[in-house]
Amino acid sequence: MEIYNKLFIGGEWVNSSSEKQMDVINPATEEVWAQVPEGNADDVDRAVEAARKAFNGPWKRMSTYERSAILRKMGDLMEENANFLAALETKENGKPLHITTREAKMYNQWWYYYAGITDKIHGETIPFEDHKHIFTIREPIGVVAAIIPWNGPIQLLTWKLTVALATGNTIVVKPAETSPVTALEIAKLSELAGFPPGVINVVTGYGSVVGDRISSHPDIDKIAFTGYGDTARKIMKSAAESSNIKRFSFELGGKSPNIIFPDADLDKALNAAVEHGFAITGQSCALSSRVLVHRDIYDEFIVKFKEKAAQIKVGNPQEQVDIGPHAHKQQLEKTLSYIQIGKEEGAELILGGDRPRHLKKGYYVNPTLFVNVKPSMRIAQEEIFGPVVSVIPFSSEEEAIEIANGVSYGLTAAVWTKDIARGHRMAKALQSGMVWLNTYRYTRWVTPYGGYKSSGVGRENGLESIKDFTQVKTVVVDLEG
Ligand code: NAD
Repeated sequence: MEIYNKLFIGGEWVNSSSEKQMDVINPATEEVWAQVPEGNADDVDRAVEAARKAFNGPWKRMSTYERSAILRKMGDLMEENANFLAALETKENGKPLHITTREAKMYNQWWYYYAGITDKIHGETIPFEDHKHIFTIREPIGVVAAIIPWNGPIQLLTWKLTVALATGNTIVVKPAETSPVTALEIAKLSELAGFPPGVINVVTGYGSVVGDRISSHPDIDKIAFTGYGDTARKIMKSAAESSNIKRFSFELGGKSPNIIFPDADLDKALNAAVEHGFAITGQSCALSSRVLVHRDIYDEFIVKFKEKAAQIKVGNPQEQVDIGPHAHKQQLEKTLSYIQIGKEEGAELILGGDRPRHLKKGYYVNPTLFVNVKPSMRIAQEEIFGPVVSVIPFSSEEEAIEIANGVSYGLTAAVWTKDIARGHRMAKALQSGMVWLNTYRYTRWVTPYGGYKSSGVGRENGLESIKDFTQVKTVVVDLEG
């Protein structure tokens, strides 16, 4: 078993004030494979103090090109350690190793991209009246907290660390309780990269303790959170009790529509619907959990969809499988309960709905396909976060838009058509932070990512994210004397 018994605070590896450890379970084997410190409110307080000291001290004094060099070095280290980090992520959340490895090999690019912008963040001069000189300065916000979910523990931490640090903030990281190990290993790499003490701090522990203290802490200026909407509400409630006013960016859930018109490249659309419906065992906010298919091609499409989805290989994430287990037991139970809800609602179950018999241990569920789903059903409205796809028929562009927009979420959406004008009309009409035309789940360091409606506030990635991690000071100079 891997024992991690220290938190990373102020550039040092220190004991948690709780003196307690918490277990980390491998969802493929259901065995405890690691232990990390069970951090508490005192640990958060120490981490915030260290982050504030670094913010007002060495990190602020450093030139932008020195900061850039450290970020670049961190990118190199992420690349050198990609296989190692990927193997840990697979143990943490059960994502197949070939996928975590492919993803881990890309994270260096986030560091390089944001290393390149440290010296390009600046204000502007506003010409107005001859006797006044008006300009703006774009400054960091201060101490930022990053609260991370378990489905993308490296990815979503990378998205937050890179922009927060490139814009000159310092950070306190709280990884999810089921996937805390990768964050501690990334903290080790940050030491090698040369970040001054206190710029990055990691406190592992429970959301209700560490997360709650972060939310109410009077000296945290911003919370960058990815997770459930209900947790975001708790964070806002707790933050409302603290004496300061915090900024938030929230990356929350999704119920993404994947809309297929008859004139689309149907093979490509089908492949995407299968791959991005069930990938990561359905545990990604951007997956196409609702597939909207035009009635002209509906019958033929669902036959092929079932055929292809039935070929998905479920199994041990260490092997060449398509999907592994759910990341933890509660998520497995949630998926199973939604399958039951779908059946009770009268949706037609044509594939899966059960657990694979050949796997004796692990939180697995077979790819599950419901067809003839009504847009109002709970399985078509609520985020399941499991390998469950609902197929919904539609007859016109207008109807597709109405169904697509008829949920509380608005994170991502996709449209498959060869008609350029229709593609653009749909992109305009969809209430979604990201729209893909004839592709799916393409997100990179340059593509701003975030939600409309209940899917979130703020953007990560791309130049757009800089706005969410900085604040603007306007300076007016009187030139008349
Ligand atoms: P979660 O909300 O349960 O947990 C996320 C984090 O919040 C964890 O670190 C947890 O410990 C912490 N937390 C829990 N209670 C807290 C509290 N009271 N105060 C402060 N922090 C607390 O979410 P999850 O189960 O880890 O992740 C799944 C959700 O994340 C899904 O809704 C998914 O769609 C969403 N998600 C969104 C994006 C995106 O970019 N929009 C990406 C990935 C996941």
